[in-house]
Amino acid sequence: MTITDTCPMCDGRGERPCDLCDGSQLCPACRGKGIIRFNPMGAPASEKTTEPCSWCNETGACPQCNTGLVFCEYCHGTGEIVVEMEAGRRERVYEEHV
Ligand SMILES: [Zn+2]
Ligand SMILES: [Zn+2]
Ligand SMILES: [Zn+2]
Repeated sequence: MTITDTCPMCDGRGERPCDLCDGSQLCPACRGKGIIRFNPMGAPASEKTTEPCSWCNETGACPQCNTGLVFCEYCHGTGEIVVEMEAGRRERVYEEHV
């Protein structure tokens, strides 16, 4: 016997908030700017350089999602998970032991 239950990972929506951008839809590497500022080792602070963000191809958008939500792999996008009823089986095992 199997019953289904609402997926706890996505609350039954089949999608869950993107773990890369936390739903903000912004690229976490450049924070939505499309460029990354970095300070070369040993260089003075005034010589901060920027480089194009390769995560998002300079778009500033999260490379993993379009909407801040990602497909829920836990329930395969159905919003439901299968819960096996094992109570009966467990009782039988207990009786065999006694
Ligand atoms: Zn995202
Ligand atoms: Zn980026
Ligand atoms: Zn789910």
